[in-house]
Formats: sequence, C-alpha cells, structure tokens
Amino acid sequence: MTQFNNISPEEEDRLIEEAYQNLLNGYLSSNHRKKVEIIEKAFKFARDAHQGIRRRSGEPYIMHPIAVATIVNQEIGLGSTSISAALLHDVVEDTEYTVEDIEAQFGKKIARIVDGLTKISGGIFGDKASVQAENFRKLLLTMGEDVRVVLIKMADRLHNMRTLSSMPPNKQYKIAGETLYIYAPLAHRLGLYAIKTELEDLSFKYNHPSEYQRIRSLVDDSEERRNELFSRFSAPIRERLDNMGLKYDFTVRVKSCYSIWKKMQTKHIPFDEVYDLYAARIVFDCERESDAKRLCWNIYNEITEVYIKHPDRVRDWLTTPKVNQYQALHVTVMGPDGDWVEVQIRSRKMDEIAERGFAAHWKYKIGEGEEEEELSKWLSTITDILKDPEPDAIDFLDTIKLNLYASEIVVFTPKGETITLPKGATVLDLAFTLHTDLGTHCIAGKVNHKLRPLSYKMASGDQVEIVTSNTQKPKSEWEKFVVTAKGKTRLHAALRHQRRLIIEEGERRFMNFLSDHHIEFSNELLSQAIGRQRLAGKEELFFMIGNDEITLNEEMISKKEQGVRFNWWRRNNPFKGKEEHKETTSEPSKAIDTKAVYRLTTTNGVSNYHIADCCHPIPGDDTVGFLNDSGEVIVHKMDCPTLARLKASYGSRLLETTWDEYSDKFLASIHIEGIDQKGILQAIVNIISTNMSINMRKMNVTSNQGVFNCDLDVLISDAKVLTNLCNQIKKVKGVNTATRMS
Ligand code: MN
Repeated sequence: MTQFNNISPEEEDRLIEEAYQNLLNGYLSSNHRKKVEIIEKAFKFARDAHQGIRRRSGEPYIMHPIAVATIVNQEIGLGSTSISAALLHDVVEDTEYTVEDIEAQFGKKIARIVDGLTKISGGIFGDKASVQAENFRKLLLTMGEDVRVVLIKMADRLHNMRTLSSMPPNKQYKIAGETLYIYAPLAHRLGLYAIKTELEDLSFKYNHPSEYQRIRSLVDDSEERRNELFSRFSAPIRERLDNMGLKYDFTVRVKSCYSIWKKMQTKHIPFDEVYDLYAARIVFDCERESDAKRLCWNIYNEITEVYIKHPDRVRDWLTTPKVNQYQALHVTVMGPDGDWVEVQIRSRKMDEIAERGFAAHWKYKIGEGEEEEELSKWLSTITDILKDPEPDAIDFLDTIKLNLYASEIVVFTPKGETITLPKGATVLDLAFTLHTDLGTHCIAGKVNHKLRPLSYKMASGDQVEIVTSNTQKPKSEWEKFVVTAKGKTRLHAALRHQRRLIIEEGERRFMNFLSDHHIEFSNELLSQAIGRQRLAGKEELFFMIGNDEITLNEEMISKKEQGVRFNWWRRNNPFKGKEEHKETTSEPSKAIDTKAVYRLTTTNGVSNYHIADCCHPIPGDDTVGFLNDSGEVIVHKMDCPTLARLKASYGSRLLETTWDEYSDKFLASIHIEGIDQKGILQAIVNIISTNMSINMRKMNVTSNQGVFNCDLDVLISDAKVLTNLCNQIKKVKGVNTATRMS
C-alpha cells in the first residue's frame, strides 16, 4: 500500500488519478462496451463527495471505492454499471447525498444497486444472532433485485480484508470471523473461486496469526524442493504436449495456507503428511471450445502413459460440471519420487470460469442483454433456497450456510438422469428433491441395487432408486436426516400438512361425537373441554383426538340442567404406536468435574472456565474460549457452529486456549447408525468392553424400520482413543456410521 503520510496534496491527487487510470485501462482492455462517460462521472462525483475524508490507514477515502471498482471489473469481470455503482457504493452511507441524488445523476439502475449496498452495509451482522440472520436474508433477497449488489459487496469485503492490518486487533478478529462464516462460502457458491480462496486465507491469517505464520514458512521452506520436483515431474509431459503441437501453460500451485491447515485439522495429520500440498495445472489454448473436452482426454492419455494413475482419484468435471459450473479433468498420478501429484487439465476458457466464475463468460460473449441473462442464471441457484424461508431466522441461516459450505455430489436415477445434491445428502433428500410425494411415501432406497435406509448418505456416482409405499407417512424423526434446504422445506410442509389433516379428522370426530349424543355445539362447551385437559387450544385438542391420543367416550360427558359438561378425559397410552424402544444399560452418568482433572490456559489467563454445552470439547480437541457477559470463559470446540456465530458478532471476546495436561478419563457420547441385524449390538459391546476395555456409562438403542440407532456414553482418556473407537465400531457389520456427538 502506498504511504499517504507526509505527501503533498498535489502528489496525493496524482496517486488518486493514477489509481483511477489503472481502473479505466483495465476496463478498456476488457470485452465490455466502452462506456467511459458514466464511469468518469461516477468517479468525479464520489471523489468530491468523499473529499477530505481519510481511511484509517491514512489514505484518502476515494482510494477504497476505486479499489473496489477495480476488483469488480478485473477480478469479477463486471461492466460499467457495476463499476459506477462500486465507485459510488459508500456515498449514501458516508456523505450527505441521498439515493434520490444518485438516481437524478445516474439513473434508476445504478441508484438501486447503491441503495442495496447501503442497506446491507456496516457488516452483515448486527449485535444479536437473530439480527445476523435477518440481515443475511435481506442480503440475499436484495440479490433478488440485482445480483450485482452482492458481487460488489464481495469486492468491498475483499478490499477491506486486504487492508485489514490497519484495523485494531479486536475488529480484525470480528471481520475475519464473519468473512469466513458468510463471504467465503458465498463466493464459493457464486463460483468466485480465486476470491473465495483469498478471503479464506486472509481470514485465517487474522484469526490464527501464529498458525498462519507457521504454515506460511513451512510452505516457503519447501519451495525449492517442490520446484525441483516439479521440473522433474513435468519434463516428460511437456515433451509429449509439445509433440501434440499444443500451446499451453504448465504450472504448479500450492494449496492455500488455510486449506492446508484445515486438512491438518480435520485429518489430524502433520504438515508433512498433506499429500496434495500442491497441484499441477495444465491450461491449454484451443481454437474451438468444442474441441476442449477431447483435448483434455488426449492430454490425460499422454500423462497416464508416463505416470501411473491413482484409480480412485480421476475427477471428470467435464461430463458433469459442478453446480458452480466448474469444468476440468483431474487426475492424480504417482510422480518420479513416489508422491501422488494431482494434475488439473483445463482449456483456457474453463480455467477462467473456474477462477472468476460467471464473470469469465462475457469475455466470450458479445451482444446486448447477455450480461443480464448470465446474472439471472446465477441468481436462480440462490432463489431456490429463498423460496420458502423458515419463519425462524436462525434455522434459515443454518440452512443457507449448510448449502453454501457443502460441496456437491452427483447421483443417478435408474433412468440415468443426474441429480446434483450437497455432500452428505441422504436417500430421503433425493426423494424430496425429485418430488414431494416421493419424499412423503419413501420407505427406503436401492443404492447400487442394495437396500438402504432413508438416512443413508449417498456418494457421488451412486445409482439410486426410491422405494415407496402408499401407507407411508412423513415422520418428524426424519428431520434428523434431511440435510438439503429443499428436503427440509418440503418435509416441514408435508408435516404441517399432515398435522392439518389429523386436526381436521379430530374435529370431525368431535363434531360427530356431539351429534351422536344429541349435544349442541357451543364455544363454551369447546373451551370447557380444552380447559379440562389444560390444552393450549382447540387445535391441540383436535390433534389429540385425530391422532388417537384421546378416544371420545360417552362416560366423559354429563348432562345437567345447566348444560352439558365434559367431566374427564382419558389419554391413551402415549407409547402406543411408537417405535420399538429398548434401553440396554442405564447407569446415570455422573457429572465429572473436569477442572479437577486438567488445566486449561487462555490468552487472558482466566482460570474459571466452563465447558460449552453445545459441543462438549475434551482435552486434545482444538478449542477456543469465549468470554461471556459474566466474565467467565466458555470453552468451545474450534469447529463448533455456535462458536462460529459468536465469533461473527463478538470476535473481540474470543480467547486462544491450550490444554496443559490431562491424565484422567472424560465422558464422551457416540452416535452409531446402521441397519439392524442379529448380533450387531453384541459386536459393538464387545469392541467397547472387551477389545478396547473402555468403560461404558450409558447405552440407548432404538430400531426403526430396520434402521439401527445407538447412543452411548463412554469414559475415555483423550480424543485419539475416541477416534480409534469410532473407527473400530464402523467395521462392525451393519454399522453405517459411528460419530462423536457434541
Ligand atoms: Mn466500502
């Protein structure tokens, strides 16, 4: 960044002019129609409006809108309307001018975008969690009006992140937190891959400065060796590509610090064991894009003739591109030194789309209206989620977040249709995605011709057939294993619908009961009936009747002179019709005083801490402390979703934590899921008690339609033992998953 301290006003003007000329030159060399006039006007307007205002770094404020406009054009690829709106994006927020002024000067379209940007400014998040979600929803709904609002906001955030070092540390933490929580996944969803990666890396740098530095220097230290390896690796391939007469770039790209760190965290491996530390990339030029796929495969053939390919790591994003339109061919081969190396093969156009999302499209398109068309196509992926937002804003945020983070899988219907779903999607999700009726009547799935329960998590490439039954009805337990936004929305609607039918049935029975006994209906009678059972209202009463929880009976009523009265109700056995429920051992779990056993150090030296109820970290977990209103430190797991939310709003209250020592046992919960079969429970118990000599505290087993569920509490010494235990249990026949619960 240029130093703006102690320079003359003339010099300052020259630097502003230079930044602006750089913006213009970039625009003029792009494929957009050359509408310089409006940009010029917006620049002058913004420059005068922000006159005399400086950023925290000391530079004149106008440098920020210029930088944002430059990102909007050169990194996102938008044209004059967006460039002008970006130049004006802080004018209404920070100066005396109004949206009406902007509209008078620049017309409706630009004014609307600036208005949208003003509405969502000041950070997406307010002080309270619900406000966060509401604002986020607002942000996405604003996109409904013009997706450029969110793209310019993305550029604004990117520039703020690039210049974050001039902010005080507590602000850095908060801004970095919300960037990672909201903006990076959104950038990913929009296909702005390069921006997503940069946002993640910058967030990581400010969230975990020491970790960032450590990984940065490990990457730097290994550079020389890497380059040497790469030139040995690439030489024989280059020779073949040259022989093909191709024009291409063959480069090596190191994973971002953030993704290296994430991999180390999730896989619990040291730096040296991150096998895909770097990837090689071949980007080739081709005259006709229709030749591109064939050329990708030709190159693939050449590479696999030189090196042995990894059988499970060929990714064909050519035939089925990702939802964000990513297209490429990935192959992992064994390099000359025995390490696996991933090679990504793409045409120039595919590469641009991968790096810059839809922005790359207009480089290849000319003609009016196409920008709008492309934008609306991208928008429709988001509006799908927005169609039926949940009344509870937080749920909505989580649903969205889930969708934004998830990477996709592609599954096939028996007819060979491809369906793209987020990773982790279950058979039930697929059923609901295909059709609501299919979802509500689904009893199982045939995954690659094998019968699987509704909760079965599908993998990319699976062929899945939905098995239905006319008597099946949607169940509230299903909420546990629908993960897609669409599935959740449709299941909720189906459950609501079903509840409504039961209420109607109950009302019918009630009315019939009255007329059978020659009782005239009255509101007093109804409220007397409700009051007798202390119910919330008539809906609840009718529901219980309709759901066979209350059977209407002659003995319930008495006819007296002053009228008919309900004397008493008999509730039916609440467990009637419920699933099989077996409780195996049930020794009440003792509360363990964790503090007596191990010590935890936080950055502020506070020692009165509590273990968070939401994620239950245990020694050995990566944790973060959160300072609550009473000055106590609540210790959360690093990847706790509650923490992620807190981080976004109260970043300054986070404390780094480290476990000092631990020597005793801790209580942990494991959830096991599978298909019920003879001996499954015995096998699990054997592993726990006999093979691993682990103390079991509590076990709860349910079996529902052949789907086996088991929750158990065990006493273990640290996180590693727990991981090992889960891995052992997963090997039991019939067991699908064994995961630690928080
Ligand atoms: Mn701004």
